Amino acid sequence: MLTIFEKIIAGEIPANKIYEDEQTFAFLDGKPINPGHTLVISRKPYKDIYEIPQADFLAVMKTVHKLAPIIKQAVGADGINLGNNNGPAAGQEVPHYHVHIIPRFEGDGFSHWHGAEDYHEGEAGENIAKRVTENL
Ligand code: 5GP
Repeated sequence: MLTIFEKIIAGEIPANKIYEDEQTFAFLDGKPINPGHTLVISRKPYKDIYEIPQADFLAVMKTVHKLAPIIKQAVGADGINLGNNNGPAAGQEVPHYHVHIIPRFEGDGFSHWHGAEDYHEGEAGENIAKRVTENL
């Protein structure tokens, strides 16, 4: 079964396309956080960061790097957030790898990083850093 995003690439579902190349495709998000909110996707339907090969990931990032300043200028944004959700717990709704380019405007009220706080007792950052680095 095709993902929604494969159907957009195939033209079966309409979308405001803004860019495409051999490995990536970019179009406006249908429910934008702000005008110009863009999704950059891999052409191949890799699900998430765990599945996408490095070459395809880098191709997506190359497109993000190309488009972000152009989108910022086109909509007169004050800033840009990049976002990539992996897994339902992280808010991923469409299981086809994509990066959000989200134009931001002073005082637009969109907030993120809710609940950022210090590590709790017994959960030392250095232990977590060790668990990560021993798996590199
Ligand atoms: P996720 O939560 O998976 O990171 O983000 C999926 C994004 O895809 C959402 O921001 C949603 O608005 C967008 N989206 C879902 N379906 C469609 C569609 O059919 N067309 C467009 N243009 N965007 C879509």
